[in-house]
Amino acid sequence: MIAAWMYTLNVYADSPHLKIPIQKYEGKHYISLHDLQRNTSLESTYDFILQRGKIYHGNSYVVYQPGLSIAVINGTLIRMDYSVKRVKGEVLLPLQLSENVLSRFYPAYRISMKYPFISMIKTRQEQRDPLEKGREIPRHTSKDAIKFIIIDAGHGGKDPGAIGKGNVREKVINLKLARMVRSELGRRLKGTRIIMTRNSDKFIELGKRTEIANRQLKNGVNGVFVSIHVNASVSHKISGFETYFLSQNPTNEEARATAALENNVVILEDEKRRKQYKDADFIEALMITTQIQKESSMLAESIQKHMDNLVWEFKSRGVKKADFFVLRGALMPSVLVEAGYVTHRKERSYLLKSSYQKKIARGIAQGIVNFIDTYNREIIKEK
Ligand SMILES: [Zn+2]
Repeated sequence: MIAAWMYTLNVYADSPHLKIPIQKYEGKHYISLHDLQRNTSLESTYDFILQRGKIYHGNSYVVYQPGLSIAVINGTLIRMDYSVKRVKGEVLLPLQLSENVLSRFYPAYRISMKYPFISMIKTRQEQRDPLEKGREIPRHTSKDAIKFIIIDAGHGGKDPGAIGKGNVREKVINLKLARMVRSELGRRLKGTRIIMTRNSDKFIELGKRTEIANRQLKNGVNGVFVSIHVNASVSHKISGFETYFLSQNPTNEEARATAALENNVVILEDEKRRKQYKDADFIEALMITTQIQKESSMLAESIQKHMDNLVWEFKSRGVKKADFFVLRGALMPSVLVEAGYVTHRKERSYLLKSSYQKKIARGIAQGIVNFIDTYNREIIKEK
């Protein structure tokens, strides 16, 4: 069991022979990031505000920006003959950059480029940096049992959130759901602290919400962060519930739009705060680790599954990923639940009923409890 758990937390190893297709676009040669990631264990993130991407592997990284013919590899600026392109959501890396990245990230491989492929053959054993090994399993997440739960009712005060017909305001529904989740959890879990970021109609900045959560972390104590929202769409036909975890690569356009809508609240925050979301160093510092992201996706799966078990009135839209500012700073497994659409006539009426709210809340609570049980059990075994 321990082995299986550890396995899911670790990045898989690359095969000794890698082959990546070269693409031609407007007469120039590129490697698409998609092909690169499909054929290697490289990981990446993308910041839609900065329009800047990061590809990483162990301690090595490259930061690029579509439209620029410079990139930064492990802190060193490199120049290319032509720029990185972003075409229909697909990132195209100039061949020069790709070769540079691969030769630095895979020093044990011999790389040869012959259109239409880059071929890589492993010629010697990789020397693993002991620092890199330590980074894969950060202490505070893998060693510490979950002892607190942060329930974050989205929006509040001057920020109503999404608004549905008849002046239905998201912030009101969120708080009701959050309170129900809290009492469900209180019944099921003894000895676990349950903290609400707000328990009244007040405005709280996004960064403050994760600050409240992170403040609870200490040696031996981990937590989870669950933000509760309801969604809105320009299409009145869209309905259903979904659970998100943080990623700079959104699942699809809809997921990106949902995050953009939720992130919109920053216009109500003070200017200094607002600047932080755009500050490159700040975002870099908050870059989520692969492990927290994997744990967050497990928490999201658990919550979504348990909501789906209880709710039959509307469909499960599944687990998705997107760049929600409210999740950015959390140093623990964290998710954002979109319980339904206030722009859908039938779903709006259900979201206002306390019997339906209770069902959603019970699903969220069961999902959290199930995740914590599994997580804490594995930690006891590990020790
Ligand atoms: Zn919201």
